[in-house]
Amino acid sequence: MPGTAPKLSIMNVGHHSTNTWVVSVGRSRLLADLGWWGHIGLLEADLKRKDIPLKEITHGFATHYHGDHAGAAQDLKNRGMKLIVTPEQLPHIEGLKRVAKPADHYTEISLHDNLVVPIAESRALLKSLGFDGAFVHTPGHSDDSISLVLDSGEAFTGDLTMPMMVGNEDAAVVERSWDLLREAGATQVYPGHGPVRPL
Ligand SMILES: [Zn+2]
Repeated sequence: MPGTAPKLSIMNVGHHSTNTWVVSVGRSRLLADLGWWGHIGLLEADLKRKDIPLKEITHGFATHYHGDHAGAAQDLKNRGMKLIVTPEQLPHIEGLKRVAKPADHYTEISLHDNLVVPIAESRALLKSLGFDGAFVHTPGHSDDSISLVLDSGEAFTGDLTMPMMVGNEDAAVVERSWDLLREAGATQVYPGHGPVRPL
């Protein structure tokens, strides 16, 4: 039926200065970043307030495996979400366990039940979930950093350092990642921290 294609919507359900994006096309929903460890209760409350049923969030991914972006991954899995992981990220998941302190209330991420998707196959997977776009490997902040770029231009970039802000990072690696995002058609940056901005 013409004119009834579900529209893309993007909502932020993040806390404590870290963004957590619910990307929706109709009732197809994907979580881009997964929230702080120990904060699943806050995340659930926020979803409820925004009228987003948690059970509709069937899939999610972390832009990288730091506690504020992937800390609640297992809590979400335990509530029915499938975790999408790229091969670049696999060796980094266990690092979370090593840096988490007892007070963080981190739930360890199990490794046997995730959806491991090579970057080259991400477009087909996302299409099957109702989204037109692909993952891009964007190291710079961390080696396991990936971004999601939708065909409509929105790029979920996690903590990829802005070129002007490069400190300890390798500037050439950061620059290359931004180039890759532009080549993938990114026009709007939905970062892990701070407001949406044009690319
Ligand atoms: Zn980070």
